[in-house]
Amino acid sequence: MKKYDYLIVGSGLFGATFAYRAKRAGKTCLVIDKRPQLGGNVYCENVEGINVHKYGAHIFHTSNKRVWDFVNSIVEFNRYTNSPVANYHGKLYNLPFNMNTFYQMWGVTTPAQAEAKIAEQKAEAVAALNGREPANLEEQALTLVGRDIFEKLIKEYTEKQWGRKCSELPAFIIKRLPVRMVFDNNYFNDKYQGIPIGGYNKLVEGLLEGVECKTNVDFFAEYKNSWRDVADKLVYTGAVDEYFDYKLGKLDWRTVSFKTRVEDTPNFQGNAVVNYTSHDEPYTRIIEHKHFEMFGAAVYDCKKTVVSEEYSTEYKDGMEPYYPVNNDRNNALAEEYRKLALQEKDVIFGGRLGQYKYFDMAPVIEQVLNIEKF
Ligand code: FAD
Ligand code: UDP
Repeated sequence: MKKYDYLIVGSGLFGATFAYRAKRAGKTCLVIDKRPQLGGNVYCENVEGINVHKYGAHIFHTSNKRVWDFVNSIVEFNRYTNSPVANYHGKLYNLPFNMNTFYQMWGVTTPAQAEAKIAEQKAEAVAALNGREPANLEEQALTLVGRDIFEKLIKEYTEKQWGRKCSELPAFIIKRLPVRMVFDNNYFNDKYQGIPIGGYNKLVEGLLEGVECKTNVDFFAEYKNSWRDVADKLVYTGAVDEYFDYKLGKLDWRTVSFKTRVEDTPNFQGNAVVNYTSHDEPYTRIIEHKHFEMFGAAVYDCKKTVVSEEYSTEYKDGMEPYYPVNNDRNNALAEEYRKLALQEKDVIFGGRLGQYKYFDMAPVIEQVLNIEKF
């Protein structure tokens, strides 16, 4: 069999960007993926002329110009701005937490009124900390935005998303969300955001153009013991614990399942993302995919729409591992696996699964752009 410079396990953004850069450096690559198609979690399926984000809604955002220029050199991005709406017992609130949310929550109309209200709402939690840093998500949220917002927009959503109490989750998860004293519903603080024009598959196709790829191939079934016969080096973007045959124990993951349906209306919920923040609904959010790429009249030119309910569940064997669960046990175990990974000769562990880190797309691409030598 032909000897490649790299065998790349996984065609997600880490694997695909690696292959792109390695090819330009004159190296040969074979990319394998156990799924029936390429692209990892950003793969989209076309249904009724709409790109459906099959493995969860993906919005690209970054402040890194180098990353933004790189992805736009492969495919141009649109100007989609993520501004999700939260539904709590039938009442709608804008996200992230900003002047619109505070007005909807308390009727306050100026930043000074909102600040006073938040100060009053968080006083008890701040006093309880007694000067120390918030130790968990509940403390972080209560000291950031206070009790009303915690109870209506955070507590139950987070319990649904993570299957754990807010007091058992790390503070950093909620630090991702901005709190703004202006009327601005843009979910991200980043300078650049958007969706590839024509969909994410265009980005993946561009990255993997001219690279040999095989789908429906599981590394463990076909290459684990023989990859050195095929390639000089291995790039592994699957789950790190699986690579080591779970010898230190299994890492926990959260997974998401999607109930996707076509609705016979051009506009089902008027927004790409609506979060359901109470336990009344078993799903965390409903995605209406067309709003990522169709704007204005185009929404109505496309007569139907596709929506997905997202259900977050605990990972079991055979499911898709999506989110690392960053509690103390898993962080410590992942660190032990990372030590083993460092000792593995000629193997690069990359991506969300390979590093057991809660990476967005842009940091994954950035990591590959930072590799100096292929
Ligand atoms: P992946 O895309 O997961 O690719 C890994 C690939 O490896 C998969 O295709 C898998 O099939 C393959 N593989 C694994 N094991 C094997 C094996 N043994 N043999 C062969 N192939 C194997 N990021 C954002 O920036 N914005 C968002 O809005 C956003 N939304 C998200 C929503 C959800 C539900 C999830 C789960 C993630 C989201 N992300 C988002 C994060 C984003 O998906 C990741 O940053 C990105 O996919 C990481 O790319 P990757 O290559 O590391 O992993
Ligand atoms: N979150 C919340 N209410 C919301 C949206 C988010 O409480 O309506 C919390 C929740 O704990 C979630 C975290 O904020 O895990 C981060 O949200 P984000 O949307 O960034 O997560 P993603 O699903 O993109 O990983």
